[in-house]
Amino acid sequence: MIRLSFARMMSAAQWWKENNGLMQVEVAALEPLLWREDGLRIGHVVAALKEMGFRVSMTSNGSLLSQHAESLREAGLDLLRLSWHSMSPDIYRKITGGGSLEKLVEGIRAGIGCSLNMSLNRVLLRGYTDDLYEQIDFVDQHQLRLKLLDLYWTAESATEYEKYYISPEEALSESAIPGYLELMQDDRQQRGRSRMRYLTPRRGLVEYKLKSTAKKDNDVCSFCTKKSNCLEGYGDYFRVFPEGRSSLCYLRQDLAYSTYDKDTFFIPDSEPWGREMRKTVESIPLRLVLEGRCNFNCGFPDSSSSWCLKQGKGYQFPDRSGVIKFEHQ
Ligand code: SF4
Repeated sequence: MIRLSFARMMSAAQWWKENNGLMQVEVAALEPLLWREDGLRIGHVVAALKEMGFRVSMTSNGSLLSQHAESLREAGLDLLRLSWHSMSPDIYRKITGGGSLEKLVEGIRAGIGCSLNMSLNRVLLRGYTDDLYEQIDFVDQHQLRLKLLDLYWTAESATEYEKYYISPEEALSESAIPGYLELMQDDRQQRGRSRMRYLTPRRGLVEYKLKSTAKKDNDVCSFCTKKSNCLEGYGDYFRVFPEGRSSLCYLRQDLAYSTYDKDTFFIPDSEPWGREMRKTVESIPLRLVLEGRCNFNCGFPDSSSSWCLKQGKGYQFPDRSGVIKFEHQ
């Protein structure tokens, strides 16, 4: 099983701190609530990163949140991003490859109960946005934040991408009641993509990033054949993967480099890629992918095809075809 050990994540965080890295770390998918090592659980990871002085955010599918909400809040987690792609239990199960919407909502209620700071992420799919208003209403009731995400393109899901892609602007214009959302100012970021943000009547937030503003103004991107499909900017995050490689690009495996000597993290300044990485650390967040497995396998609701960016990289997922085949029998 591939997993970033506690020793390796602490070594990366320590190196980052000692080299004036931006003190923001995101504990990212694959599913971080599955992480464990001997008696250590995810709450211990967050507590250790907070102790070092990081602002810590996390992305999770939320299926195990009811068990971890209290320990994450006690550890001082600054923000938990939860993936919630449909309000329909049946469609949610098909998208996640077998997940339970009831368990997710139970986890969210546990988080609300202990004042955990949470934000919801929803990947938009054409033909599956009728319930968006219902979700915005939930956000309004609980003063949460909903981030609408563009479907990511991957080479493996290129056909489905054509069928399912819908922009946040189009989805909102079809689903939201005119006048219900109040436009706040554009949040023009210094780095990364510009953000549009709306207020609900009871001060919940709905937001999305503008696809057209991903930054690609560098040599690597200018010669990249994936440029027209790539969604994030190069160097938006410094990603450390569970097998011990690191990258400034979310899509291309050939741009990931080995950054460990046993358990010790390092970025060599003797290598051109190392010098390029070192230049970025002061201005971008560290993103740690702890787990090489997920208990969900998110994809298209009427297909066994997955949209997860971590597919085909040696990580473990449940089989989607069982969920979809069952529905067709
Ligand atoms: S895939 Fe990576 S290298 Fe290519 S354009 Fe996107 S960020 Fe740049």
